[in-house]
Amino acid sequence: MSPVIALLLPKSKGKPEVSTWFRLQAPDNDSNMCGSTDRLFDGLNGLAVCAKCGYKTDPFYINPAFRVKRRVYDVSYTYDGYQIVSRKFKEACLRAKLTGVGFQELPADSEFFHLKPTAVVSFDGERSHTSFLRRCPACSHFRDIVGLNPACLKSAPTTDLSRTDLLFGSGNEMHPLIILSETAKDVIQRERLIGIRFDSVRV
Ligand SMILES: [Zn+2]
Repeated sequence: MSPVIALLLPKSKGKPEVSTWFRLQAPDNDSNMCGSTDRLFDGLNGLAVCAKCGYKTDPFYINPAFRVKRRVYDVSYTYDGYQIVSRKFKEACLRAKLTGVGFQELPADSEFFHLKPTAVVSFDGERSHTSFLRRCPACSHFRDIVGLNPACLKSAPTTDLSRTDLLFGSGNEMHPLIILSETAKDVIQRERLIGIRFDSVRV
């Protein structure tokens, strides 16, 4: 069959779908931004905490004293769910002019950043079989949001990096998923950054 005819034919339904969106996965960096899943550090000024359930209600609060313990990775997670990236990661994103990128500075650690994409994409909890458990009547947050098998978005992101509107995990470790375009994945792979895995995401 000529390549032109092959292009004109409808895609076979039996073929596995080729993903063009990916979820950023990384190892832990043996650090805690605000505490553990169930306990917060004392003395975190300005951190919003629910008076009833005791969990933090701001997933993006930065502890001004935070420093990364295991410093070998370019992308890693704290035990309480913060995606931490190296200066090398940040510079690679900026050099490639990837869209949707956003970084929060760490006041006590200038070599690392909290990755917080500016663009938000809707996660499809229904298709992903996500469970929402133990809702707090005071702050309306769920204690656990689990299940993303398979991970599905409601629509395709419009930027290279984005974060899901839905946060996953338990208690204080609730965090969004980081979604990457194929371009962003290629940039990151070319840089040989340490610690990164990519999982497919469906749209
Ligand atoms: Zn609460």
